[in-house]
Amino acid sequence: MGDKRGVLIVLSGPSGAGKSTVIAGMMKRRGDVRFSVSATTRPARPGETDGKDYFFLTREAFDELVARDAFLEHAEYVGNCYGTPAQPVEESLAAGWNVLLDIEVQGAAQVMAKRPDAVSVFLCPPSLAELERRLRGRGTDPEEKILGRLARARREYPLAKNYTYIVVNDDADKAAAELDAIITAELCRSEKRLAFIEKGDRSI
Ligand code: ADP
Ligand code: 5GP
Repeated sequence: MGDKRGVLIVLSGPSGAGKSTVIAGMMKRRGDVRFSVSATTRPARPGETDGKDYFFLTREAFDELVARDAFLEHAEYVGNCYGTPAQPVEESLAAGWNVLLDIEVQGAAQVMAKRPDAVSVFLCPPSLAELERRLRGRGTDPEEKILGRLARARREYPLAKNYTYIVVNDDADKAAAELDAIITAELCRSEKRLAFIEKGDRSI
């Protein structure tokens, strides 16, 4: 039997590596991926929209969802809580959408343990010096958050080996093309394609 369920893609990488940029580039290239909107207790950055980039919640509202077991995974990252609402992910996968989670390494480990079929991708910048330039260039975080994110990036680098794929975001278009290619390859796995063989022309 072929599997019509979509592919669950977990993308991690240091803050400032270019995940949002590369995801946007990949989404422009293909129309079969849904971005999983996370809940967070961090304040919205200028230009971010509630319900599109994140669901911006109070700590109380976040904790209530944790208590109700509403998250596929959740974790703390540089002083704020982040979590993936489980139900929309399940519904989209069942409807045949590929679903992309942009989540940090602790949450990614929870998803990999629960869902061994998930495809994991670690996005890294070409260097830590370039990461620092991008975090400062983005101009959205106060100094202590930038230092926290850089320290965290150094600690997270060795975890890249736990991921199925590593994409280096030197050129954003090339990185988006690589992420696109990874999704295409996963959809070409034989277990997802066997239905075509079974339904194929048996008279040949
Ligand atoms: P993340 O989502 O991983 O935190 P962003 O997508 O917000 O990262 O990117 C961080 C900053 O780096 C942004 O200002 C973005 O425009 C810039 N950026 C992303 N990719 C590249 C790249 N390949 N080359 C140069 N700058 C980039
Ligand atoms: P930012 O505050 O820069 O948007 O995100 C900080 C970090 O939180 C990033 O590494 C991002 O991947 C991660 N993140 C975003 N949403 C979630 C989530 O739902 N769960 C987990 N575990 N991490 C998340």
